[in-house]
Amino acid sequence: MNPVSYERAADIEQALRLAQQPGARFIGGGTNLLDLMKGGVETPQRLIDVSRLPLAAISELPQGGVRIGAMARNSDAANHALVRQRYPLLSQALLSGASPQLRNMATVGGNLMQRTRCYYFYDTGFDMCNKRNPGSGCAAKEGYNRIHAILGASEQCIATNPSDMSVALAALDAVVRVRGPDGERTIAISDFHTLPGDTPQRDTTLRPGELILGVDLPPSPFAAHAHYLKVRDRASYAFALVSVAAALEMHGGVVRNARIALGGVAHKPWRVPEAEAILLGKSLDDAVLESCAAKVVAGARAYEHNGFKISLAQRAIARALRTAGRTA
Ligand code: SF4
Repeated sequence: MNPVSYERAADIEQALRLAQQPGARFIGGGTNLLDLMKGGVETPQRLIDVSRLPLAAISELPQGGVRIGAMARNSDAANHALVRQRYPLLSQALLSGASPQLRNMATVGGNLMQRTRCYYFYDTGFDMCNKRNPGSGCAAKEGYNRIHAILGASEQCIATNPSDMSVALAALDAVVRVRGPDGERTIAISDFHTLPGDTPQRDTTLRPGELILGVDLPPSPFAAHAHYLKVRDRASYAFALVSVAAALEMHGGVVRNARIALGGVAHKPWRVPEAEAILLGKSLDDAVLESCAAKVVAGARAYEHNGFKISLAQRAIARALRTAGRTA
């Protein structure tokens, strides 16, 4: 590992000041960043510990929304009464991620910043990785690409975003609050993570030196009918091959409002509003579900080893929606 200095920020202002130094990185729970540093994938010169900042609260917002601080641990967010009651989809997604020990360490802000689990990104023995080393190529395109993207990929990168939490946040229209040298701003979750395009080294629209303060969830009509379905190789402690966050508002067996977000298939949580619109005013019969699922994966492109994801995603969407429609 390269030499690295460590400072614990006493308050947000100090954290932002320290982040101006060359090679500085914020660290919260460290469950992803430290792994990347040990593997030589990330080489920060300075770690700014923000884990003790007063950003761990989970509280009610006016009009029924909920604010989750960036330093709230994943386990605390998943098990908080406000989250369980109003956003069971988020609670389910958080509890499907990692292991209990990791969820006790990992923060909500860090979860948003998780980097891809592409094997070639993690293994510096492979020279070709545009995300790790821009301009070097993409080993995954011609390599073993079973876990890679089927939607929104580019010639430069076919990696997926590994976060379960972010998939639920996408379905719930969350807003990320950040503060940087130029002040505070909000970013809709749909604009927070990026597609790889020509700049796969970027995962988010955060600007240099910006610190995530937390996530705001708007009031949700989906508490009674929500389901997070995660399909993976092991029953626990595995990343999603495909995951589906399904949230419905039902009235008399008919869909009044719907949200569907997919994980494990793209560089960011994948939503297709036109597919959600197919469900409106309909009951969840097989033809409607098939049509909706086909719309979500329209334009999907498979690589040598991940063609199964296209049909898997469609079946998972139908199953998640059926389960969400039944829950109450
Ligand atoms: Fe690197 Fe992206 Fe290609 Fe993986 S898919 S090797 S992260 S450029």
